Amino acid sequence: MKNIAVIGAGTMGNGIAHTFAQNGYKVNLIDISEESLKKGLLTIEKNLDRMVAKEKISEADKNATLENITTHTVMQNGVKNVELVVEAATENEGLKLKIFKDLNSLCGSETILATNTSSISITKIATAVENPERVIGMHFMNPVPIMKLVEVIKGYNTSQQVLETIFSLSEAIGKVPVEVNDYPGFIANRILMPMINEAIESLYNGVAGVYEIDTVMKLGMAHPMGPLQLADFIGLDVCLSILNVMYDGFRNPKYAPCPLLVNMVTAGKLGVKSGEGFYDYSENRKAEVVAKQFKK
Ligand code: NAD
Repeated sequence: MKNIAVIGAGTMGNGIAHTFAQNGYKVNLIDISEESLKKGLLTIEKNLDRMVAKEKISEADKNATLENITTHTVMQNGVKNVELVVEAATENEGLKLKIFKDLNSLCGSETILATNTSSISITKIATAVENPERVIGMHFMNPVPIMKLVEVIKGYNTSQQVLETIFSLSEAIGKVPVEVNDYPGFIANRILMPMINEAIESLYNGVAGVYEIDTVMKLGMAHPMGPLQLADFIGLDVCLSILNVMYDGFRNPKYAPCPLLVNMVTAGKLGVKSGEGFYDYSENRKAEVVAKQFKK
């Protein structure tokens, strides 16, 4: 496998493209937005510069990585002659079904079709494709060039051969693949999101403040970041949407999103990306505890 297409040049797509390109793969990075492609390439360049400064890679490695990436706004041009497509477009079921329907007609029948979805069923996405055994979840973690894990999600129809190919490929790009079956939240979010939700619930119930909850988990459990700060980084809208997928998928009230989370998302407090969540990122991203309603 040498030629790979990555669909979506956002947070995850540019990281995925970077990682494959740095490991010698030719990458077609595709996005409907010219702006996103420009921003994505700039991010890749900035991240490579940081690696050069830290002497993790050479200037020549950086240039070779950039040369391995070609950008496209027309999907048809970008997915021609690739052996693997990794879809990392916006998290929306209708959009992903449409992309996979298009891939079904644009790619060769042997092309492996992977999705980086955080929460949508792989089995469902595979219904858009005539031969669903080639559809698989490749759930990278953010930031992709740094995080080792790839949750490899086997849809109901995914073939063993496709699973093995994706395992070898993940290892070839320096990642550690872990096999997971296709149920809501997979493993990463099934465990992480209830913890984040419980942290929000504790704040909502007035058990402790933002600083206190995060400090308990950082210093007491050796987590590098508290659950509320992590929620701000992931995006509170993303957390809410994943919790809702698990709530609906399992029909279990234990996944019901905390009313405070729902309120904050409705009020546009989405975390780092909106400048405010549980912390205030407005001034030089200085993380000051907001939680106005819960200040002692
Ligand atoms: P993002 O909003 O940063 O980027 C999405 C990109 O997709 C945008 O640039 C958008 O222009 C592009 N796009 C939309 N429709 C398209 C189309 N039809 N064709 C091509 N490009 C299209 O989103 P993100 O955070 O990078 O998330 C992408 C995927 O990765 C989602 O499925 C998400 O659930 C998953 N994911 C995200 C994270 C995370 O921490 N952000 C972690 C793991 C998985």
